[in-house]
Amino acid sequence: MKFETRAVHAGLPGDPHTGDVAPPLHLSTTFARDPEGIPLGGHTYIRESNPTQTQLECALPALEEGEASLVFSSGMAAGVAVFQTLSPGAHILLPDDVYHGFRSAARDFLPKWGIHADFVAMDDISKLKAGMRPETRLVWIETPSNPLMKIVDLQAAIEISRSRGAIAVVDSTFATPVLQNPLNHGADVVMHATTKYLGGHSDVQGGALIFRRKDALYESVKHVQHLLGAVASPFNSWLVLRGLRTLAVRVRAQSENALAIARSLERNSKVSVVHYPGLESDPGHTIARKQMSAYGAMLSFRVREGRAAALSVVRRVKLFTRATSLGGVESLIEHRASSEGPHTTTPQDLIRLSIGLEHADDLIADLDQALEN
Ligand code: PLP
Repeated sequence: MKFETRAVHAGLPGDPHTGDVAPPLHLSTTFARDPEGIPLGGHTYIRESNPTQTQLECALPALEEGEASLVFSSGMAAGVAVFQTLSPGAHILLPDDVYHGFRSAARDFLPKWGIHADFVAMDDISKLKAGMRPETRLVWIETPSNPLMKIVDLQAAIEISRSRGAIAVVDSTFATPVLQNPLNHGADVVMHATTKYLGGHSDVQGGALIFRRKDALYESVKHVQHLLGAVASPFNSWLVLRGLRTLAVRVRAQSENALAIARSLERNSKVSVVHYPGLESDPGHTIARKQMSAYGAMLSFRVREGRAAALSVVRRVKLFTRATSLGGVESLIEHRASSEGPHTTTPQDLIRLSIGLEHADDLIADLDQALEN
């Protein structure tokens, strides 16, 4: 079955007793049992499971071609739940351009848990290979990366991880399941910040892990989810379920817009470089073409005259909203280094765009006037 069909029907049908077409929202925190103590509907307590959360967890594997999934209160909670399954002494590798939340988590928390993290430029597979140690237990891959849009060769990176006995987890938030399916390249887990495209409307926070196999790794992450409590709420699960139905059309249209905008920025003399894997000039283009069906709706670009000029562009836009985050139907712009704070590794002349569903011509005109001034 094609992706669009799976996205519309995943996790449905609803309750045969009511005939619901749209998923119901279950708010109960606790669930009745029969006289022998057996839960009547398979649920006992909200932190462990809830019917709406379970419906989302049943829907997601169909989109990534996995066997099971777990949903969390945020993308960070989902990712850190994997870190929390590791034992003291473990070593993990992350990309040098990893989402800054995971960079900070690795810096501030992993040492306290006895886990050592290194950051390597995984867009160069030889650097990944060189960074592996006998005690490497996890290779965290992010492709395309936030905010430099670096592309990691999934097939090669996953092969290296697995051949050395490390699990490979891919943060595929920017790509979405519409454009890239890391489990089909052998990844153990794919992660999404559902706050972004899966929700799709800038009104829900959540995270998801989809597992290639319903195995011991799944069970140990599920233990973290149940016990430590960063589980997705029923309402947030319901909003993500709703977002899934339109995911394919949104992401394809937003990707087309982004490509048009990237091409226009590439021609602008005020711009020194555009980071977008859909451009033939992008260093990640060939690999992106191999592993993605389109190039996504995130892009970043650098302004020739430096930080002050970049800040001025962000100030002058009229249609783009100045805000962090991504993946909604409205276009957002940000001076990324300012958002990331004092520990940022992002260039000061870089502007990040999340492209929405407005008409590309209007977005291009807005950027042109902001760059012109
Ligand atoms: N991964 C990527 C690539 C992100 O961009 C983000 C947030 O921006 C996250 C993970 C974390 O998601 P959340 O903000 O829902 O914790």
